[in-house]
Amino acid sequence: MHIAFIGLGHMGGPMAVNLQKAGHSVAAFDLSPLACDKFAAAGLTIASSAAAAVQGAQVVISMLPASRHVQALYLGAPGDSGGLLTQIAPGTLVIDSSTIAAATSQQVAHAADAAGIDFIDAPVSGGTGGAIAGTLTFMVGASHAQLERARPVLEKMGSNIFHAGHVGAGQTAKICNNMLLGILMIGTSEAIALGVANGLDPQVLSEIMRRSSGGNWALEKYNPWPGVQESAPSSKAYAGGFGTDLMLKDLGLAQENAGAVQACTPLGGLARSLYAMHSMAGHGGLDFSSIVQSLQKRADASAS
Ligand code: NAD
Repeated sequence: MHIAFIGLGHMGGPMAVNLQKAGHSVAAFDLSPLACDKFAAAGLTIASSAAAAVQGAQVVISMLPASRHVQALYLGAPGDSGGLLTQIAPGTLVIDSSTIAAATSQQVAHAADAAGIDFIDAPVSGGTGGAIAGTLTFMVGASHAQLERARPVLEKMGSNIFHAGHVGAGQTAKICNNMLLGILMIGTSEAIALGVANGLDPQVLSEIMRRSSGGNWALEKYNPWPGVQESAPSSKAYAGGFGTDLMLKDLGLAQENAGAVQACTPLGGLARSLYAMHSMAGHGGLDFSSIVQSLQKRADASAS
């Protein structure tokens, strides 16, 4: 199958590589020449533009940062003659795996439908490790028929595929999950920082909590304390992984959604404020687990 892949960032790049490894022919594109060079070196065929990438593709996949990027790509910027939807052949399946507002997914799906194109939302969980290993969890907003059409492609990039509901429902499931993740990373960071301030070894404390009632995904796979888990972004100076500003975007989406349906999400709101302060202190580009730095005692702080 010929697949166009748009957005070769921390997640999209390895996802596209897995599709190629599975035997699909992939035409990939990113606005960043750096990202294109990196994945050309990994063996991907890079197209000269998004419009060139979608020529002859049966499936188009996008993995972009936020709602405005997805809107601009598919619908065009205000004043443009039209977005990528005008270049995609009718009958094509478009899978957007970016985490964006459910309303934006529905807006693009509506425009796609008018052009005879199937557009579904399929945001993911599992981090960069899951993208590389091909073990992502997909949360799909689509009709049953659209999901079954997408399934063979999604299976090459992930191991869990959930049908959340109609278009947009994948995004709603995703922001519920990421609100929980944002909160639990702060809680995990606070607990380790408290133990360390009391002289405990972060490795020993993490293992105790991992196997106790505080056990969670951060302790299993993504420990925020440097040196506890070699594979975690914390042990690589918080480079790569899931950026603080992307977490901030997701917590903002969760609060907007909560406001729209009058849901009560006080911890989600507090978590958003804490990541916003962390970002404003200059850490927006670091992995979100670097929030621990805002919660730990500085080595040079005088003990009083
Ligand atoms: P990223 O910033 O590393 O990559 C996004 C890429 O999109 C960049 O390379 C950028 O140049 C490119 N891009 C932007 N607009 C474009 C356009 N119009 N055409 C072509 N390329 C364009 O982000 P990421 O970490 O890969 O995350 C992508 C999405 O996945 C986000 O919505 C994020 O919230 C979500 N997500 C990320 C993780 C993670 O661990 N990083 C996990 C789950 C979900």
